Amino acid sequence: MTAPQHPYTHPALTAADPELAALVGAEERLQAETLRLIPSENYVSAAVLEASGTVLQNKYSEGYPGRRYYEGQQNIDQVETLAVERAKAVFGVEHANVQPYSGSPANLAVYLAFAEPGDTVMGMALPMGGHLTHGWGVSATGKWFRGVQYGVRHDTGLIDFDEVRELALKERPKVIFCGGTALPRTIDFAAFGEIAREAGAVLVADIAHIAGLVAGGAHPSPVPHVDVISTTTHKTLRGPRGAMLMSREEHAKALDKAVFPGLQGGPHNQTTAAIAVALREASQPTFRDYAHAVVANAKALAEALLARGFDLVSGGTDNHLILMDLTPKQVPGKIAAKALDRAGIVVNYNTVPYDTRKPFDPSGIRIGTPSLTSRGLAPEHMTLVADWIDRGVAAAGKGDEQALTAVRAEVADLLAAFPAPGLPV
Ligand SMILES: *Cc1c(COP(=O)(O)O)cnc(C)c1O
Repeated sequence: MTAPQHPYTHPALTAADPELAALVGAEERLQAETLRLIPSENYVSAAVLEASGTVLQNKYSEGYPGRRYYEGQQNIDQVETLAVERAKAVFGVEHANVQPYSGSPANLAVYLAFAEPGDTVMGMALPMGGHLTHGWGVSATGKWFRGVQYGVRHDTGLIDFDEVRELALKERPKVIFCGGTALPRTIDFAAFGEIAREAGAVLVADIAHIAGLVAGGAHPSPVPHVDVISTTTHKTLRGPRGAMLMSREEHAKALDKAVFPGLQGGPHNQTTAAIAVALREASQPTFRDYAHAVVANAKALAEALLARGFDLVSGGTDNHLILMDLTPKQVPGKIAAKALDRAGIVVNYNTVPYDTRKPFDPSGIRIGTPSLTSRGLAPEHMTLVADWIDRGVAAAGKGDEQALTAVRAEVADLLAAFPAPGLPV
């Protein structure tokens, strides 16, 4: 008798397209054997993976549950309703739209709902930690709207709310975004809410990075303070690649119309299903433990890095993310990131606020703890992780490939004891 095949060995794919199957297998090994520190990445559960690989893929469903432009929605309507109801329960909101294809189109839908081309919009500048879609010039959101941008203070690395208020009252933006991609500190939604009300702007909390922390009670909720919540579902929330828009009932219609038919056609039902599964997981007590462990790990890692002479933007972290300025180590971010990759530690190079280097060759690296937490690593492992980063960055400076190879072996050795969710190896 042959042993039963592991469910994730992709037998049909291997038979039909061995070339592609081999690449998937290689990626599975890479994700199993490396320490993945990119703060926007994670490991979804086997259940989320399975949901996103179902025959829901085959179905067109333009419209919303009960109001579709295609027949045969008996099951799909229930799938989407489950996802919506779970989103409302997990985040405590009156309205949720689970159809946006990803975070960037979700944000575009927000502009479509509340602004006209040429209007002034406001967000955090990309090099300060904001997202492209918060009105940065190279993005459609900065080309079609007049983006005005706030930053963080040079001395503290923190948002200066006097500056934000002054800018908002002077520019009177239609929409203000708060949140970002490289913000290691708690977002003060109440302070933004006060400013937005004073300025008469629609306030959007983009919680793409921290949605899982909000759901798990490890970051304050934006709900009472903001008009709209935009989020991806695939970062700390640990769902499939997708997005959601949430609001009070008052904005429901505007947001729904903007997503469909304003911006999109048929929703990706297999993704909607996987979002529903992820939200069910996010409502469990174990998810609260995960969210708090993500933050505890990041704080422990920040302490260990500070003890090794690393310069952390804002001096540390409140959430899942650490932004390091490698200038004192005299190693550019990109050289460090590429060397760490060879050492089995996957990070991304990143600008730091007031960076004197170019965005494609910046001074910093950005790291985070969601993935390693999903594998079960705990604060007691973070000195080891900091040590590996320290050795990797030092080896990058000296071009010491042997040291990187040694770290890579140690990383794989530890991770073998912490199997990642959803992976066959
Ligand atoms: C990741 C992210 C997005 C965009 O999400 P995509 O799915 O990559 O389009 C938007 N806003 C913020 C703050 C993000 O971190």
